[in-house]
Amino acid sequence: MEEELIQIKNTAVSLILEVSDKKTLEEIKLQFLGRSGKLTLVIKDIAKLPIENRPEVGRLANEVKKAIENTIATQELRIRQLTDRESGLKQKIDVTAPGIKPNIGHLHPMTQVLMDVIDVFKTLGFQVADGPEIETDYYNFEALNIPKYHPARDAQQTLYLDTRKSKVTPGKIILRTQTSSMQGRIMEKTKPPVRVIVPGKNFRYEQVDASHGFEFWQVEGFMVDTNVRLTDLFGTIDYVLRQLMGQGIKLKFAATNFPFVEPGVDTYIECTVCKGQGCSFCKQSGWSEIMPAGMIHPNVLKAVGYDSQKVSGFAFAIGLSRLVTLRYQMDDLRLLTNPDLRILEQF
Ligand SMILES: [Zn+2]
Repeated sequence: MEEELIQIKNTAVSLILEVSDKKTLEEIKLQFLGRSGKLTLVIKDIAKLPIENRPEVGRLANEVKKAIENTIATQELRIRQLTDRESGLKQKIDVTAPGIKPNIGHLHPMTQVLMDVIDVFKTLGFQVADGPEIETDYYNFEALNIPKYHPARDAQQTLYLDTRKSKVTPGKIILRTQTSSMQGRIMEKTKPPVRVIVPGKNFRYEQVDASHGFEFWQVEGFMVDTNVRLTDLFGTIDYVLRQLMGQGIKLKFAATNFPFVEPGVDTYIECTVCKGQGCSFCKQSGWSEIMPAGMIHPNVLKAVGYDSQKVSGFAFAIGLSRLVTLRYQMDDLRLLTNPDLRILEQF
């Protein structure tokens, strides 16, 4: 019976593939799958087989049925396309009718702003580096002067990778919480002077709201050379943000504390959503934190083998997602990851 089934399949398939009209195709369908079709009759006979053979033959019969049905469906489609094309050719074509404009994709606002950021930094002599999103605890924290149990870790709710099935000590591999993790990696391999920016995605276990996401884009950057001073950092931030956001923006600096810089600087830009009046995006303050920075801590320089007596440097991180929302006066960061074309087509 197995042989018979396979033969039925082969005959049916070759017959179907030769057909070029719908009517004949229907006839062949009946001939094999109809109530008294060849395959239907064989399937009925399965009941007469010894009980132990039935499952095997049943399975084969099912496969044969499916193969025939699929071939019919494909052939049906092919015939339909052929007739459509023929009837299309018979219709008169109006060559003066306006064409249908094809939909052309464009760059996501995030990519557009990122390219602008890279352009500005390139004019200042910065190179662009890329780094892994899966990072070690060492480069993400320890090399940046944030040892285990340091309170600064609390501010960066970390997502740890499950390494139980590998040889890695639990807690050693994480999703990077900041692109600053590339500082150590680059400085270890490069002698000063060095100027680099690292754009990339970061991940934190955060409550998502209008101005925070669990994944967000940052552009980390740093510069190390002889005689790099705090005023160089202020000058760089001021120049870069005015190039990106317009000369008329208002900026303010505040002293802050990050373990990998000393002193630490926080840069605020007047909220573009409410023009400083206070809104939910800026938490009613009229200002939005945009570019935390500072002079690189001597411990960080020492950890990568630099002589902190001879060289100094600054580091900063631009919240790219926030920069995009502020540039386009979007009041919610979550719009950036919304796939709704009505939003994306505005950029
Ligand atoms: Zn605001």
